[in-house]
Amino acid sequence: MAEKLQTLIAGQWRHASGPEYTTEYPHDGSTVARLHAATVADVDEAVQCAEKARQHPAWAKLKHHERAGMLYRIANGIRERSEELAQLQRLDNGKPIKECRALVASAASTFQFFGAAAETWEDTITPSRGDFLSMSVNEPLGVVGAITPWNSPIASEAQKLAPALAAGCAMVFKPAEITPRMAIELAKIAQMAGIPDGIISVLPGKGSIVGDALVKHPLIKRIAFTGGTNVGMGIQRLAAEKLMPTSLELGGKSPTIVCADADLDHAVAGVLYGIFSSSGESCIAGSRAFVHESVYNEFKSRLLAGVKNLRVGDPSREDTHMGPLVNLGHRASVERYVQMGRDEGGTVLAGGVRPTGSYFDGGSYYLPTVFEGLPNSARMCQEEIFGPVLALLPWKDEADLIAQCNDNMFGLASGIWSRDFKTAWRIGRALQTGTVWINTYKVFSISTPFSGVKMSGYGQEKGRLGILEYTSQKSFYWGLNESPMPWAST
Ligand code: NAD
Repeated sequence: MAEKLQTLIAGQWRHASGPEYTTEYPHDGSTVARLHAATVADVDEAVQCAEKARQHPAWAKLKHHERAGMLYRIANGIRERSEELAQLQRLDNGKPIKECRALVASAASTFQFFGAAAETWEDTITPSRGDFLSMSVNEPLGVVGAITPWNSPIASEAQKLAPALAAGCAMVFKPAEITPRMAIELAKIAQMAGIPDGIISVLPGKGSIVGDALVKHPLIKRIAFTGGTNVGMGIQRLAAEKLMPTSLELGGKSPTIVCADADLDHAVAGVLYGIFSSSGESCIAGSRAFVHESVYNEFKSRLLAGVKNLRVGDPSREDTHMGPLVNLGHRASVERYVQMGRDEGGTVLAGGVRPTGSYFDGGSYYLPTVFEGLPNSARMCQEEIFGPVLALLPWKDEADLIAQCNDNMFGLASGIWSRDFKTAWRIGRALQTGTVWINTYKVFSISTPFSGVKMSGYGQEKGRLGILEYTSQKSFYWGLNESPMPWAST
């Protein structure tokens, strides 16, 4: 019998009040955990309690270094349980274990970084333009909500919780229904680190019930959302009703550009990793590869040789490159896109099917898939598939290349492979994306901000100034002399 999970609601470890449901291991469909979904009443209880907890002196009056100490202890708590957390993350969404370990390590670093940011945070004395001292200070927004997707739970949850705690907020989480585990474990670690009861609650369940109630709750002062563009737009509409700030980290259809002078082996490895790691279930997946026509055939044959060498299989194995997709429903969606690509006239050069053999029967596996012969305007090249599907597109003229890359509603990330830094800089500045990788892909640093443009969303995660997203700014003016006010003699 699968383990039954409790969650943390309003300072109590208990079952949520809604119906029981199960989560499944994508490798073989076995049940991983049983737990209860939260209800609208649970949302209200968690938020009301968070509001009291965040105003209590035990949290509100902490000095910067004391709050930072708690974040450092969370970082250490994650590190002490790192292997266990990586294995739990693997069971939740089927990511290969090596990727899960990297996500756990990044979550620990995120708490350490924002601990340091909290400890060294300074209010600002602004240049005075009169006989007064002027200051700008930042204050916690209050109770904030976090809504997260299933593809990289521990990392995306840490990226919201760490700056929120550093700013002095309380946070109510709504993790993806199918991957609730990491948020629950983070809440345990945070409690052990001394975060007061009520400051963090975790409410598993459906977005349309729990997420919706969280967004609408009058005491929720901000929503940090990562997920699909349509859901993000719905959240923004609701947020407008109470002028609530949000950050929306949404979908992508990222172009990678291979220039004529690129180091082809390096570029092939980068493009393979960019699209097929995490089985393409990554917002920044490099799903459109624009390859200069002079190297197109050579690049294509090296890429296809690389695809043949990718090991698709059990995510618990150290040598697995690609695990299963997150579930059968998502695989069906990827299959519909592959069919659409065929119907639009594309040629499948690799994959385009499920792997065969009884080993794969219980899981939601799909082979790495490469298309060519599609124009950039094809739906398959325009819409986010969120799966292991790459479109190869030849290019000749740089202005036309840039126009094609930018001719997409998303603007999350892009990659450029060129030996000439001037070319890379010129193209990079012209691309409408929040992140540009040059001669690398999918590398991240917690100190570097992350955000999309266009329909990939807005609002900074990561980077020292990420804390500001969880604060409101207040100005002070202190009169410095006894000179009379303008109307003193009236
Ligand atoms: P999703 O939008 O379906 O769900 C995301 C979260 O929103 C889940 O917790 C879900 O339960 C909740 N939700 C759904 N409907 C809701 C509603 N009406 N009100 C409030 N909450 C609601 O996305 P997903 O399928 O879980 O994740 C995949 C998407 O996430 C992809 O589009 C991907 O690009 C995006 N993503 C973006 C980033 C980024 O940083 N830009 C990172 C990871 C994933």
